[in-house]
Amino acid sequence: MLRTHTCGELRKKDVNKDIVLSGWVQRIRDKGGLIWIDLRDRYGITQLLLEEGHSPASLIKKARSLGREFVVKITGKVIKRIAKNPKLSTGEIEIDLTGIEILNSSKIPPFTIEDNTDGGEELRMKYRYLDLRRNPLKNSLLLRHKLSLETRKYLDGKGFVEVETPYLIKSTPEGARDFVVPSRMNQGEFYALPQSPQTFKQLLMVAGYDRYYQLVKCFRDEDLRADRQPEFTQIDCEMSFVDQEDILNTFEGMIKYLFKEIKFIDLPELARMSFDEAMQLYGTDKPDLRFGMEFKELNEVAKGKGFRVFDAAGLVVGINVKGCAGYTRKQLDKLTDFVKRPQVGAKGLVYVKYNDDGSFKSSVDKFFDQQALKSWAEFFDAQPGDLMLVLSGETNIVRKQLSELRLEMGERLKLRNPDNYKALWVVDFPLLEWDNETHRYHAMHHPFTAPKPEDVDRLENQPGSVKANAYDLVINGVEIGGGSIRIHNRDLQKRMFATLGFTEEEAQKQFGFLMNAFEYGAPPHGGIALGFDRLAAMFAGKDSIRDFIAFPKNNAGRDLMIDSPSTISNEQLDELGLKVLKKTEK
Ligand code: ASP
Repeated sequence: MLRTHTCGELRKKDVNKDIVLSGWVQRIRDKGGLIWIDLRDRYGITQLLLEEGHSPASLIKKARSLGREFVVKITGKVIKRIAKNPKLSTGEIEIDLTGIEILNSSKIPPFTIEDNTDGGEELRMKYRYLDLRRNPLKNSLLLRHKLSLETRKYLDGKGFVEVETPYLIKSTPEGARDFVVPSRMNQGEFYALPQSPQTFKQLLMVAGYDRYYQLVKCFRDEDLRADRQPEFTQIDCEMSFVDQEDILNTFEGMIKYLFKEIKFIDLPELARMSFDEAMQLYGTDKPDLRFGMEFKELNEVAKGKGFRVFDAAGLVVGINVKGCAGYTRKQLDKLTDFVKRPQVGAKGLVYVKYNDDGSFKSSVDKFFDQQALKSWAEFFDAQPGDLMLVLSGETNIVRKQLSELRLEMGERLKLRNPDNYKALWVVDFPLLEWDNETHRYHAMHHPFTAPKPEDVDRLENQPGSVKANAYDLVINGVEIGGGSIRIHNRDLQKRMFATLGFTEEEAQKQFGFLMNAFEYGAPPHGGIALGFDRLAAMFAGKDSIRDFIAFPKNNAGRDLMIDSPSTISNEQLDELGLKVLKKTEK
């Protein structure tokens, strides 16, 4: 028998029991007369004890030959511990060792397998299986497991069925590049890995499955960031005979259920905000509502006063930062540098300090006297002691810039506490988005999203003004999910493709299968997908999704452990009918 118990299991009530444990040697403390060994497995740590004069000499010798991360099977008797360790679930007992069997030795690990390790990111990724032994990663994966279980429970309880859809498909447009897989049997042709199962879940609705879900891998060839991986998991859902309200209610229910089961938090009813309002008040479609600092538009009081920068701007807009009038020159310079960084891209920052004595000091004193600045303060609802920060420029651009500054101020003032959760629905997204580079409209969500019925007539003539029944779930400034009511009518889908600049042949070639299906009784339907890795990270209060994925890729899209992507042999290339061009041949 390799074990009678796990390393996290034994308690005071087990004292005097003869037990067998197996696990990894976490630590050995050799104090001469006494030797302690911490034995670890997934379930916890149990302390083993050897005592000179009490334990057999051969056993003590064997214990001294063990190294960190050796795999051992031990026998012994449970005894009461004198110095209890309240940090361990097994902290009230220890094991009086009677036998040690080495099941496997271990090289010295390249970094310490402790909660706070000395290993750098790259090294830990290369030895991911060692990193995964550490508690923080183990806990992340256990949390992920619980999340998937509870998600399935909730959806099953609501009548959703999990259906698997294929990975070797044809491009689905979700706005990213496809990963492609060459076909050996059809040389010169390629599968695309799904950016999402969008068209398949819609076809399942045509097939009458009514409520579908899937915890599914999606693949997007995008530039990577901390919260992005080339392959990631979605909770993908679709429902028939529903309107937007039904979907929002169902998934508001799910998110509340998950918060309750996993975080023991009763999430209040989710706020709803239109896309337009979110852009106007927060400059982003994923506002972080853990703090206020809403935008105030100042065109009325700031333009036409001789300050050229403002006069030339489409929008003068600012935020009021409570209690920061005491900011020093240096601090304000730092903020100016922040907004001028290429990632933010503002030309400069205007500040107005509302001093405690009621006077104002600003960077635009030349153009705005005390009276004028007082009218700004009224606009901002500012109090003495506050600091007003103002940007100006082209409306959409300046809103984005101020949004960055708002988040930065929220961060500085510690208003973005990861344990405080503020969730909302952003609704009424525009159907289309103008792309200045390609000079055409793109679907803001995807081309299967339905225009609002009252806007359909404007699809051809004023496409930019058409709103969609599309919605995003946003928590703490992170887009956790998004979805829409879909088009289920062939003619409307055709009009949508035409608006997006597809010729009829192109639309037929790429999406004929879906439009054909719409001719065989497609029910009204809609759905949503939630980022599963992100949700897990959020529940743990983390920004990066990497530690919630067992084997993630680095920022260059590489798996450092298996060393992928890699070249393939000429035979494989030949079989696939491919030729890799050297850089010089291109
Ligand atoms: N397919 C969409 C996505 O992956 C979600 C949806 O519309 O249901 O973002």
